[in-house]
Amino acid sequence: MYAGKILRVNLESREVKVFEPEKSLYEEFVGGGGVAVNLHLKMESYKAEPFSKENPLIIMTGPLTASAFSCSRAQFTARSPLTYAWGESSSGGKFATYLKRAGWDGLIVEGKSDKPVYVYVDSSGAEVKDASFLWGKTTYETQEEIKKDEGDVSVAAIGPAGENLVRYACILVDNSRAAGRTGMGAVMGSKNLKAIAIAKEEKFTPEPKNIEEYRKAMNDLLTRFKESFMGKMLREVGTGGYVESAEMFGDLPVRYFTRGVFGKADKISSNYIVERYFEKHDGCLGCPIKCGKVLNYKGEKYHLPEYETLASYGSLLMIDSAEVLIEMNHLANSLGMDTISSGVTIGMAMYLTEEGIKDFGIKFGEAEKAKQLLEDIAYRRGIGDLLAEGTMRIEEKLGLEGIAAHVRGLEIPMHDPRAFSSLAVAYATNNRGACHLPHQMYNVEMGMKIKEYGIVSEDRFENKGKGIITAKMQNYAEIFNSLVMCVFVPAKPKQISALLSSATGLDYSVERIYEIGERTFLKKREFNELAGRGKEYDKLPKIILQPVEGGSEGNVPDIELQLKEYYEFRGWN
Ligand code: SF4
Repeated sequence: MYAGKILRVNLESREVKVFEPEKSLYEEFVGGGGVAVNLHLKMESYKAEPFSKENPLIIMTGPLTASAFSCSRAQFTARSPLTYAWGESSSGGKFATYLKRAGWDGLIVEGKSDKPVYVYVDSSGAEVKDASFLWGKTTYETQEEIKKDEGDVSVAAIGPAGENLVRYACILVDNSRAAGRTGMGAVMGSKNLKAIAIAKEEKFTPEPKNIEEYRKAMNDLLTRFKESFMGKMLREVGTGGYVESAEMFGDLPVRYFTRGVFGKADKISSNYIVERYFEKHDGCLGCPIKCGKVLNYKGEKYHLPEYETLASYGSLLMIDSAEVLIEMNHLANSLGMDTISSGVTIGMAMYLTEEGIKDFGIKFGEAEKAKQLLEDIAYRRGIGDLLAEGTMRIEEKLGLEGIAAHVRGLEIPMHDPRAFSSLAVAYATNNRGACHLPHQMYNVEMGMKIKEYGIVSEDRFENKGKGIITAKMQNYAEIFNSLVMCVFVPAKPKQISALLSSATGLDYSVERIYEIGERTFLKKREFNELAGRGKEYDKLPKIILQPVEGGSEGNVPDIELQLKEYYEFRGWN
């Protein structure tokens, strides 16, 4: 269910073109990140300096967008200014659905404007508009201002962090959803692109080839999602309902990855927050779960922080006040900054200070200073200027080794490889750097089985076999990035096969889905090889390979063994 057209906007020449991709590109790579990586390879983005006009921002929807629940997601892609590798980040909200309904499968933004602009898109094309009056404004203010002028639009905006080229700046979509990782907001900032607004229209309506089969496949999946443990938890309290279990498993990073027990997980969990401040459910267009929550906090509307944020600003920094975390989350979103990378970077500053290695003037648990630091980073004030570069560059600048918690330059998220061994090889080989989403090995280690592909783990601490199941899971999970489907949907290969086949009228067997995923994963790897971010970056920092007390029981994953198995399985020498 493709519109068959991608809009191409050049910010320099102001030229707007329509590009019609070959049908085979969709058939072989489905959509989302799969189609985007092919376009980037063709445009040789891997050669581009990430902040140069040669680095295009490509935003793609998928074949089920504007039709299936939990597929109102857009994949934002570019060469990452944080990692210099493949950069991608997906966001929910209304953006993808509006883009598709306006008749566009995707949007390519090229060049660089000489002054602040925003791009307005509707079914007739795109217009580059002046955004001088928006420059300096927060993401929330920007959305509000644009909506005043443009009416019912979905807005993807950057904040001061993106403008100031903070390498992990994010894009905030429709006020509450974020394309958080790999610095896509900084890519927009480097183009002087403050926002993209998509008009609400009904130009294109996706029509499944086999409507009865499609409805049945959707209903099956919806029932499974609603009845799953994950679906129920997300509905009730969002992703932050996992905080206490995470601590039990030893999966909750504590004190910049140097401890295994926080002891106050109940104080920062979303159970605590929802009980006190819940106002209403919130989430992506068409999603029946709506894992987001709007809070009534101090008489104002705030958003419930995700698990990743509760941990990266909470246990990682030894901050045990849920109220502070609500405020920090709001601040980071309004400034337009990835909460994982900013949390880990502040954690590194705290760690270096406490260890007497470099005094950043901030220690663990200092919440007010952490809040101030978020602002200093966004505006690159004082030490914020260095911290805006991310952990990898801080380490390089200070001549240190093994302390920066990153892989390929992307800060390690809030799932610990010492709790779930396969996360070691998953992080080390993941194309966009240390990230938990594209493979979900923590779920596999907690019992999720994909039997069709032999993805099963019997022991979360075992190393043997983990290189193989991780490679298989990476291959399978790519389909979520291509669809673009929310990774929380517990879709089995057969269900994805039924959905895609009935939607397109083509035969997307369970085997074919795996092949597409593998092909896509390898294309992203190819991008990284060409960008000089290949095998030599397949490693973990020492800080994450020290035993800690608590739920991980002193386990340290054997990354060498896992990598050996992984390379053998992939046929790499
Ligand atoms: S579960 Fe949450 S992230 Fe996923 S589609 Fe629904 S609202 Fe969006």
